[in-house]
Amino acid sequence: MPDFIKKELARLKKDGLYRQLKQIGPATLVFCSNDYLGLSQHPRVKAAAIAAIAKYGFGAGASRLVSGNSPLQEELERKIANFKGRAAAIVFPTGYMANLGAISSLVDENDTVIIDRLDHASIIDACKLTKAKLQVYRHNDPAALEAILKRSAKFKKRLIVTDSVFSMDGDLAPLPEIVALARKYDALTMIDEAHATGTIGQTGRGLEEHFGLKGQVDIVMGTLSKAVGSVGGFVAGSAELINYLRNKARSFIYTTALPPAACATSLEALKIIEQEPELLRNLRMNSRFLREKVAAVFRPPYNGDLKVAATTSGSDEIPIIPIIIGDSTKTMEISRKLLERSIFVSAIRPPTVPQDQSRLRITISAVHKKEDIVCLASSLRELIPASAKRT
Ligand SMILES: *Cc1c(COP(=O)(O)O)cnc(C)c1O
Repeated sequence: MPDFIKKELARLKKDGLYRQLKQIGPATLVFCSNDYLGLSQHPRVKAAAIAAIAKYGFGAGASRLVSGNSPLQEELERKIANFKGRAAAIVFPTGYMANLGAISSLVDENDTVIIDRLDHASIIDACKLTKAKLQVYRHNDPAALEAILKRSAKFKKRLIVTDSVFSMDGDLAPLPEIVALARKYDALTMIDEAHATGTIGQTGRGLEEHFGLKGQVDIVMGTLSKAVGSVGGFVAGSAELINYLRNKARSFIYTTALPPAACATSLEALKIIEQEPELLRNLRMNSRFLREKVAAVFRPPYNGDLKVAATTSGSDEIPIIPIIIGDSTKTMEISRKLLERSIFVSAIRPPTVPQDQSRLRITISAVHKKEDIVCLASSLRELIPASAKRT
């Protein structure tokens, strides 16, 4: 084995940054899944997958443009377009690939992509695939975004990309300000709705619905792997945009299509989101309940260590509750001790989050029971060091 591999692995271990896969038992309480509505386990979703496999088999066999297209893929695209209030949509095998394909085909060396400092890794990787100039603004800071836009007139196109819900902090992008700035400076807007689809807005349609800005964003990207409980990524937008991506997005053209059964599960899940609004109500009730419980353990002010209540508008709606511990090794240790009690909360460390901001990232689901949440809160009370609590 080459020396650098051994050395780098040793360094990761020393710094508390080594990553390992975990197997969890059926009795483990999971508080770090993005299956926010529990749809991956919904009986109708399971039945839809089985029926699709019976009819189509499993693998799609080729890319969409070759022989991998099926009626289910097109039906899913129509459903997503309708759900997001757009003329059309295109599906990709994953959300990661949706970002790669969309961003890399929309901008080139004459352009600039302007992103929030905390945007998801897939957005950053997409930017690395283009020759467009990458510019980064301070997290959720419209003034910093405007400063960049002001000095970017020389670029042919300006594309602003933001997460809708920031996955590690559980806060929302200031969409009204971003949309207004994009108008003022003639920029394109793109939102990544990975954590917003099915969770944010009155009926779970995402950030535009939350802010009453339906149809205002140019490019709406999302994933089917989180609240939708399936797998796959998408972009929704104008019919022209979607035709363009079908012709230009390399992560659409040069990869095998989603299995038809994956499309069937997503379709069924999106119908359930519309037909069973109580799922979203439960999710919000559970998020609020956990926030109350955590706030009772760590009353404000949070010493700047704890961001539980730091989210602004609509914080009850967001099923992501980070507890910032700081030190990576310490965070890992708390996560490990929770797991010894059959509670799984993952430790999030650099480079996923900035240095010294390692955290426990708790995610809530509509199908958590009240007693599960009580159990988590009391374990947190015992395991989190006093230094991270209020004094
Ligand atoms: C998870 C995630 C993605 C990637 O989606 P996958 O379908 O899991 O590949 C993209 N953007 C954000 C913000 C995410 O959280």
